[in-house]
Amino acid sequence: MSIKKSLTVLLAGTSALASSMSFAAEEVNVYSYRQPFLIEPMMKEFTAETGVKVNILFAKKGLIERIKREGKLSTADLMLTSDFSRLTMFTEEGLAQPVDSDILNKNIPSQFHGAEKQWYALTSRARNIYSSVERVGPAPTITYQDLATPAFKGKVCMRSGKHPYNVSLLASIIAHEGEAKAKTWLEGLKANLARKPQGNDRAQVKAVKEGLCDYALTNSYYLGKMLNDPKQVAWAESVHINFPNQATTGTHVNVSGIALTKYAPNKNNAIKLMEFLSGDVAQQMYAEINYEYPVKEDVQPSKLVASWGKFKADDIKLSDIAAQHQAAIKLLDEVKFDL
Ligand code: FE
Repeated sequence: MSIKKSLTVLLAGTSALASSMSFAAEEVNVYSYRQPFLIEPMMKEFTAETGVKVNILFAKKGLIERIKREGKLSTADLMLTSDFSRLTMFTEEGLAQPVDSDILNKNIPSQFHGAEKQWYALTSRARNIYSSVERVGPAPTITYQDLATPAFKGKVCMRSGKHPYNVSLLASIIAHEGEAKAKTWLEGLKANLARKPQGNDRAQVKAVKEGLCDYALTNSYYLGKMLNDPKQVAWAESVHINFPNQATTGTHVNVSGIALTKYAPNKNNAIKLMEFLSGDVAQQMYAEINYEYPVKEDVQPSKLVASWGKFKADDIKLSDIAAQHQAAIKLLDEVKFDL
């Protein structure tokens, strides 16, 4: 009786282990700073195509810290970020591992690879200066440098200088012009703000609509999102989208991206998913669902985004911008930008 019982337990244990092993071979675990409305439809497509189940942990913050804390025991295979500074941080913390894949190399241009292929960008977006339709009109020749000149006094709205989007912009200005010039720019910009930095990117366009300021520093895809939100369409219609620095360095672009974790338990499936996200189906979804620019060169942006026109993007290496992130944070503290 006792032998039979223990045999049953053993068998049950074996089959549970076997099934969990075969199950594990067909799944992949993603930690995502990107939002469910965008990511879930893509993962459905991936699972339909490959049979690999995707488990996703979504959060607005703390995911990198969590992977660090979990160490070798972490079940995370992939880190999906909505900006470049977190990709860099993830890599610099030693939490990523390089991936060399013919498909990724073919789909993603090399300026969008980490230096040692420890991350890949999946989409790009411009950091635009929006101008008031009513009080300014289109401003096709505007520059980031203009925002710090006396003519713009009291006219500029933006979110916290410490937000990753603004840190990357400032880091790019340091990379181009050096720290001293960048500091002068930052002080001029602070002096021109209509109000203390606050809110998100869209709140700056809302403030233009409400007459609080004439210019807003806001990413490109938010225009598409606002135009398709009944509550926000009036904000979107109150502004022109301008691509700064067309005659000089080009418009600053940031990226969203992905990295394979150092201890990824489902490495093969994770690389499969990275490759899928760089392919036509997912790149088109990024373009259509979230109005971002695909990184895969033969995938077109959405019709709406294309209607904003082609622009010259700053082609500085992302790693050169990353190298100035700490300097940017230091300058923001020095000029007490958000206070
Ligand atoms: Fe965003």
